[in-house]
Amino acid sequence: MAQQYKSWKDLPIGAVVPGGTCYLNKTGTWRVSKPVLDRSKCTKCLLCWIYCPDVAIAFDEENIGIDYDYCKGCGICANECPVGAIKMVEEVESQ
Ligand code: SF4
Ligand code: SF4
Repeated sequence: MAQQYKSWKDLPIGAVVPGGTCYLNKTGTWRVSKPVLDRSKCTKCLLCWIYCPDVAIAFDEENIGIDYDYCKGCGICANECPVGAIKMVEEVESQ
């Protein structure tokens, strides 16, 4: 679990590549582990959103959500969440 950043706004400026290419394929079928979000712990810092390589984290003013059609289950979001609000579970356990 990363602790050094409280929000995506604290991240240093880095390289940016064009986004959206992951929408060409529904890569959720690749997943063997699934991120499960505990909304009671989530502070809406959006670090998971900025780190997700598949643009599979969505949010509005009320909630954060995971788009399982595109989430590949890499676990980066769970690793970077500063409050442990995302837990990776085996895909078979979550069904
Ligand atoms: S497990 Fe990986 S692909 Fe899925 S939402 Fe988290 S960071 Fe994105
Ligand atoms: S799940 Fe974690 S990283 Fe994502 S917005 Fe909530 S607190 Fe931040």
